[in-house]
Amino acid sequence: MPTAPDDQVAERAVSGAEIVLEDVVKRYPGQERAAVDSLSLTIPAGEIVMFVGPSGCGKTTSLKMINRLVEPTSGTIRIGGEDISGRSPDELRRHVGYVIQGGSLFPHMTVEKNIAIVPRLLGWSSEDVDRRVHELLELVGLDPDRYRGRYPRELSGGQQQRVGVARGLAADPPVILMDEPFGAVDPITRQRLQDELLSIQRELGKTIVCVTHDVDEAIKLGDRIVILDEGARVAQYDTPANILAAPADDFVSDFIGSGSTLKQLSLARVSELQLSTTTTATVGEPVADVVTRAEEAGDRAVVVLDQRGRPVGWPWVRRLRGQDRVPSYDPERLNTLDRGATLNDALDLMLTSSHGAAVVCGDRDQYLGVVDFDLVTGHMRALEEQAGD
Ligand code: ADP
Ligand code: MG
Repeated sequence: MPTAPDDQVAERAVSGAEIVLEDVVKRYPGQERAAVDSLSLTIPAGEIVMFVGPSGCGKTTSLKMINRLVEPTSGTIRIGGEDISGRSPDELRRHVGYVIQGGSLFPHMTVEKNIAIVPRLLGWSSEDVDRRVHELLELVGLDPDRYRGRYPRELSGGQQQRVGVARGLAADPPVILMDEPFGAVDPITRQRLQDELLSIQRELGKTIVCVTHDVDEAIKLGDRIVILDEGARVAQYDTPANILAAPADDFVSDFIGSGSTLKQLSLARVSELQLSTTTTATVGEPVADVVTRAEEAGDRAVVVLDQRGRPVGWPWVRRLRGQDRVPSYDPERLNTLDRGATLNDALDLMLTSSHGAAVVCGDRDQYLGVVDFDLVTGHMRALEEQAGD
């Protein structure tokens, strides 16, 4: 079986706070049925909990009650043991990060200004704000010098979403709420952003509540998943592995859909594989040395790393020949997998790669190795054999 999420939680630092919802009801004016009808839920500190369910079932309403963008009709919500109804909504929102689709950046403000909004409101010194913006841009994989002065319209959808995540993290809040954060980007960018979120979370250990309508995304990102039905009725609340293994009722099995063997591909992580190694080279290194190493290892391509150990290119050896030094590459053009990526992501990426394989990174985009079809199919076979025992 895949590693239990509990193991992953144990190894990361926790800076998040527990969230408890108790009999929370939201009835919008003029609504016959409550949008949220008595929701009770405990979200453990430091975990990612995914809310999934059909459109209109009350996911967004439930989320917005946690930062008082929507006021509950009745019931109690506590963050870190403290009843939030006693806090001013403005003050609360400065301590709860909020990330929505598209990043919702202010178009007339630079990337830097967008990220700095809450730290400035909190009265941080300008040196502290500068340092934080730099750190966050690095964390979300955007070169600070290149991007801090740009305007949102000068960024791709994926880059805007990254800035949106950086802004949500800006004041180091213990709790981050995300509403369909990666809904508006293409599949490869979406996979990258999901990977980045997992990698960031390994470092930060926040409490993240994330709404999605995509079951695969919930399985991939969630330590736990809440499957909601009409009126935010909790149909099942458990780990992805347990939900796939034993759906609570027909609603849940219908919702997670068929092909649960395939869904196992979304549970298994690249980190469970023994990655292949391949020849690496560093930007600026003499090509002759690289060619010798690659020939000795029998590799037809080499992974090029920048000075900080991050993969930036994956050229064929024959393309390097004739050059003196290993050139630099635009890292944006190399699609990589985080070690937290699923085998599903790995297959998707390999299918679009001329190498029939994908480069895997760990924390802060450090190079770890390469995954190929044989590794994935071998792992799936091993899982099936285990299941058959
Ligand atoms: P979801 O995010 O799961 O799609 P929502 O929380 O947005 O669901 O909506 C739940 C229900 O509440 C829906 O029936 C929706 O029409 C209704 N609703 C949402 N926001 C409002 C609002 N501001 N005023 C009135 N009804 C609303
Ligand atoms: Mg919604």
